[in-house]
Amino acid sequence: MTDIIQAAIEGAGADELNALAMPDSYRASFVRREDVGMFDGLESSEKDPRKSIHVGDVELPELAPDEAYVLVMASSINFNTVWTSIFEPLPTFGFLDRLGKESVWGQRHALDKHIIGSDASGIVLKTGSAVRSWKAGDKVTVQCNHVDDQDPSAHDDSMMAVNQRIWGFETNFGGLADITVVKANQLMPKPTHLSWEESAVNALCNSTSYRMLVSGNGARMTQGDRVLVWGATGGLGAFAVQYVLNGGGTPVGVVSSESKVKLLNELGVEAVIDRRAANYQFWSDEHTQDESEWRRLGKDIRGLVGEDVDIVFEHPGRQTMGASVFVTKRGGTIVTCAATSGFMIEYDNRHLWMKLKTIKGSHFSNYREAWHANKLICDGKILPPLSAVYSLDEVGDAAWQVHKNLHEGKIGVLCAAPEEGLGIDNRELREQVGEDRLTIFRRHN
Ligand code: NAP
Repeated sequence: MTDIIQAAIEGAGADELNALAMPDSYRASFVRREDVGMFDGLESSEKDPRKSIHVGDVELPELAPDEAYVLVMASSINFNTVWTSIFEPLPTFGFLDRLGKESVWGQRHALDKHIIGSDASGIVLKTGSAVRSWKAGDKVTVQCNHVDDQDPSAHDDSMMAVNQRIWGFETNFGGLADITVVKANQLMPKPTHLSWEESAVNALCNSTSYRMLVSGNGARMTQGDRVLVWGATGGLGAFAVQYVLNGGGTPVGVVSSESKVKLLNELGVEAVIDRRAANYQFWSDEHTQDESEWRRLGKDIRGLVGEDVDIVFEHPGRQTMGASVFVTKRGGTIVTCAATSGFMIEYDNRHLWMKLKTIKGSHFSNYREAWHANKLICDGKILPPLSAVYSLDEVGDAAWQVHKNLHEGKIGVLCAAPEEGLGIDNRELREQVGEDRLTIFRRHN
């Protein structure tokens, strides 16, 4: 370990850190350009992240004036880690090459190794000359909206920016590493009552769920709304159900096992559907959907909460979208940010237009939304759904768990943090929030 990393871990201040040199290389997890065709001919489910994700030393890139080096204490697995590692729907090297053509600083990203990861908690090691609000030694979390603030399209809602990218997916030097390179406007304060690994699992999924449900850019959920949440103990769903509860609504969580039903009940979600037990067959064959199965889901929802839902929180995609459009209340909203089971979607448009429903697309969040969502974590009002912790060397195994839907909530990854449980500065707030509530996902795993 180099002097600067040791000093940061021991709590050194800005002056001391600024006086120390950065290492030439660092440990990171990455996929390789030469491996892009390695899974050709296999079904998605057979493509194995353990074969494509490598961990080893990589060269430290130069720092641009508006960037910071962050010592990553912990990171997390997102579904985009899975997409990158199985080279679907596209190999991410195309994104890096496009960024490489944009600017001198962009050129650094177009490499034959893609360092992955779109979440991090850690300590700022050095800042570029144009960084004003952050300094070496600050404890931070990182949100993944990578945007060029000299693009006018970025200045109303930065998710509308033409060159908006997701850090660690559409850019290089991601968070599943000991050091990451981020723009200063990706930094947010680390929650003081959480450990490094609890702090690292939130930003991407929490901010996405916040925009989808709470922000004026999303479904604009209001008090009393009934909200159907697919994958309610998954990365996005675990935050979504908390937003519905906090906002005075009623979540209807859909999950696929009895243990997940119990987990949701402990979180305070009373209306839960076990889709495996219900055995919905929305598709009778590859090309045909069965409306009677959509009706059965609608009846089950009404059986639990008395009415149709105002909002459906969608992300499974092809398998569920027909049902989601059908079960939404007249005038309601289907808000979608993904299509895990297939992006060529089919639904019966008559149910959309005749009942004046809206399908709303959503993608990550702008800085303000991410900041608001992070503040709720910092205040203890949203719980981190950390269910398991892996080491950086085990990123392939951790991604495999997520790919095969074997996990609950979020999987944390220890990077520079030598062990679990470190980084908690505010024990009083932790006690107020409650150890039991903070560890619900961990205990149910
Ligand atoms: P996750 O942790 O794997 O959770 C997804 C959950 O969805 C699973 O736990 C599973 O729950 C449920 N599910 C999976 N396949 C399903 C199917 N065919 N039918 C019904 N439910 C199904 O993943 P995540 O982090 O929540 O991400 C979900 C998707 O959103 C991914 O495709 C990801 O890439 C995308 N995403 C997009 C953004 C964005 O900004 N656009 C941000 C984050 C994630 P049960 O088995 O318990 O039902």
